[in-house]
Amino acid sequence: MNPCPRCGFTGGRTACQDLFNDITLRVRAMAWTDSMKTWRLMHDVYDIQHEEDFCGRYRGLVMHLGGVCWALEHGGAEPGYRALQKLIERNLWDHEPYPPSPGIPASRGSITIAALKDAETPELLTVRVDKWARSTWQAYAALQPMARQWVKQAMGWK
Ligand SMILES: [Zn+2]
Repeated sequence: MNPCPRCGFTGGRTACQDLFNDITLRVRAMAWTDSMKTWRLMHDVYDIQHEEDFCGRYRGLVMHLGGVCWALEHGGAEPGYRALQKLIERNLWDHEPYPPSPGIPASRGSITIAALKDAETPELLTVRVDKWARSTWQAYAALQPMARQWVKQAMGWK
């Protein structure tokens, strides 16, 4: 069994996706205060950890890397996500694949979806998604300035 080629999850790519799907359902079913924030962040983190499958174009990266930036550095309130969505709609990123490569990191951090496997409470899910997000964001250190710029642009900040 080969590990997931994107994130390194030992069970392989399919099991990685299955586990992610299960956990997003778990989060939805538990539906605690702020569970949507956790759910949203999970999606963005997973997407940038599996960049080739879910981003692959600036549009995806702006939404998901921008989303992680928004969540970790600005609290992740809903209007920021809407603003990022609008930023994408205003620009041509939709039609622009890389290259030039924006420098997607080969290693996507040491924490994978496996860390959430037995997180059965809202507290554990929240804490572990946060840790996973920070680890993945760190792996994307080279692209953080670009992500911050997208957030600024989206929010209309000078
Ligand atoms: Zn994976």
